[in-house]
Formats: sequence, C-alpha cells, structure tokens
Amino acid sequence: MTIFSADTYICDSEKLIASSKKTAQVDNKVIYLPGTDCVVRPKVSLAGYTSYRVGGPAEWYVAPRDITALEASIRYAYEQSLPVTVLGAGSNLLVSDCGISGLVIGTRHLRHSHFEEETGLVTVAAGEAIPGLAWQAAEHGFQGFEWAVGIPGTVGGAVVMNAGAHNGCIADIFVSAEVLCEDGTLRTFTSEDLGYTYRTSKLQGGKNIVTQATFQLQPGADPAVVTATTKHHKEHRLNTQPYDKPSCGSVFRNPKPYSAGWLIEQSGLKGYQIGKAQVAPRHANFIINCGGASACDIFNLIRHIQHNVKEHWSIALEPEVKMIGNFKMA
Ligand SMILES: Cc1cc2nc3c(=O)[nH]c(=O)nc-3n(C[C@H](O)[C@H](O)[C@H](O)COP(=O)(O)OP(=O)(O)OC[C@H]3O[C@@H](n4cnc5c(N)ncnc54)[C@H](O)[C@@H]3O)c2cc1C
Repeated sequence: MTIFSADTYICDSEKLIASSKKTAQVDNKVIYLPGTDCVVRPKVSLAGYTSYRVGGPAEWYVAPRDITALEASIRYAYEQSLPVTVLGAGSNLLVSDCGISGLVIGTRHLRHSHFEEETGLVTVAAGEAIPGLAWQAAEHGFQGFEWAVGIPGTVGGAVVMNAGAHNGCIADIFVSAEVLCEDGTLRTFTSEDLGYTYRTSKLQGGKNIVTQATFQLQPGADPAVVTATTKHHKEHRLNTQPYDKPSCGSVFRNPKPYSAGWLIEQSGLKGYQIGKAQVAPRHANFIINCGGASACDIFNLIRHIQHNVKEHWSIALEPEVKMIGNFKMA
C-alpha cells in the first residue's frame, strides 16, 4: 500500500491551494476527503478531547472511522506539509494553551473488537476504550485484563505507553500491533519490535500510528469471577485516586525504588496549587484541574514539583504525561 502518490486535492482560500480536479469538497473551510466519509475541520478546541480538560485548538482535526479514512488523512497531511499528532483518549496528554499546529488525528472512532473464544486471543481497534475492553473480557470469562479497568485510555494509547496498573501491564499480554508507518505501509510489530520497558515503547515520540492490537488472554474462567476481580480493581482506584476531578493520572514515572507520589508528598507539596492546578490531596502524583485551570498552570506546577523534589531528594522526576505544543515557564 503506497499512500503518498495520490492526487493532491485540498483547497482553502487562505492557506491551501487547489491543485486537482479530483478535489476534496471544501465547505466553509471544512474539508471532505475524497472516497471517505471523513471531514477535516479547522481550529477544533482540544480541551474537550483531553482528560485534563485544558488546551488550545488543533490547527486541523480529523477523526477517521476506518483505515481508508486514516490513510486519506495521512495523505492530506503529507500533501499539505502538516505535522501529524495522534490523539487517543487524551488521557496522558497536556496540550498547550496555544494549541497544536498541523493535523491532529483522533483515533477514538477506529472501533472493532474480536474475541477468539477457543484461544483467548483478542484483536481490537486502536480507538476502543480500555475500560470497556476490560469489562468485555470479563464477560467472556477471559482473565489477564482485569488490572486495566481504571485506565481511561484507548487501545492505541495503551500500546504506545505500555500502560499498566496493579502489577499488570500491556507488555504482559501483548502479541502484536498493526501499525501504519511513516512511509505509508501497514506493518505488524511484535513485542520485541516495540522494546517494551516500564511505561515505555519504541513507538513513543515516533510517527507511526497503531491501528489495532492483538492481546493474549486466558479463556475459560467463570465470567462472574473475572467480573468480581475487575470490579475490585475499579473500586480500589475510585477509593485511592481522585477520579472526580480532571487529571492525566500519574504525572511522573516512579523513579524506582521510590514512588513519585511518596517523594512529592514528603516534599510537602500535597495540596499545593498554582492557579487552578493542584497537587491532589488524595494522591500526590496526580495533578488535578480544580476547575478553570490552564495548561500553563499545570505545566508550571509540574516544573515546581520537579524543582522541589530535586532540592529535597536529588532525584530528577521524569514526566509520564506527554506535553505537546509550546510551553513557557511563568
Ligand atoms: C484518572 C486516570 C488514571 C490513569 N491511570 C493510569 C494507570 O493506572 N496506568 C497507566 O499506565 N496510565 C494511567 N493513566 C494514563 C493514561 O490513561 C494512559 O497512559 C493511557 O494509556 C493513554 O491512552 P490514550 O488513548 O488516552 O493516549 P493519549 O493520551 O491520547 O496519547 C498518549 C500518547 O500516545 C500516542 N498515541 C495515542 N494513540 C496512538 C495511536 N493509535 N498510535 C500511535 N500513537 C498513539 C499519543 O500521540 C501520545 O504520545 C491514567 C489517566 C487518568 C486520567
């Protein structure tokens, strides 16, 4: 599959130049990609697409529903020389108040899932929600995904981040991922290819897009038992973490053998606030948006925490949250 040889087709009176008769339809600057039901929209606020509920607009935003539309979106970006940013559920992202230039591709409409009852193999599209998948696995009597129920991301984001909780992580169950690579080819990557370590994979910071993943679970358990374990994990999270306020979960990676939350708490920062961003009183490795925080508030609080923990413990905390766009210290 080559995706960079198609006709050029975009026009926008201010920025983009029509270059082909086989054009996408342009209607009030909304661009319809040909051969798809896919629409590229300008200046879409990303605050509603991130769990922090902050962030400026995407210069362009598209949410393809299938691979053809995803390929058309990438082709559009290539032809218009737009940098691409991939957005899953936005649950591990801090988007700058200035927004993101280029094309933001939201994957949450890439949906399908297939449970192989005999083998326990589960193949899921990148946009499927992790909590929903955990509940479905439980209903099928598949063990091995109970730990994931409290992670509010997509399959694509979880594969890229090697998401994990309760001593489980994606690497433990990962078989392979189908990835749309920068050169336009669809390739299958195995665990070895992704070089999984703690909350890290080789896909981070790259230009490849996960389109679907296959996981190995253990079939044949009593659905009621798996559901009970899943429920237990969910309740534990609700009792120990501030799920009632917008956040990105843990802000910093744990600098083993320490826990980032403990270091932050011992530095006297629990409850510390900059603007409307606060170190969560319930869990010091969470920064919560108390209502009306800006990305800049959160960014400045991250830097403040790093500075203080460094002073107290000589440990450099490394953010787990991905910061995108331009940030400036206040
Ligand atoms: C309340 C709360 C609790 C959380 N608890 C946990 C936890 O216990 N464990 C944990 O690991 N995380 C946790 N998180 C963080 C977050 O949910 C995970 O990191 C999750 O895997 C991110 O998935 P996402 O779809 O939201 O990715 P996003 O935040 O949208 O993106 C994260 C990164 O992945 C890239 N990306 C996303 N999708 C794709 C794709 N299809 N192809 C290529 N790149 C892609 C993005 O470009 C970005 O760099 C928590 C977050 C919240 C808000």
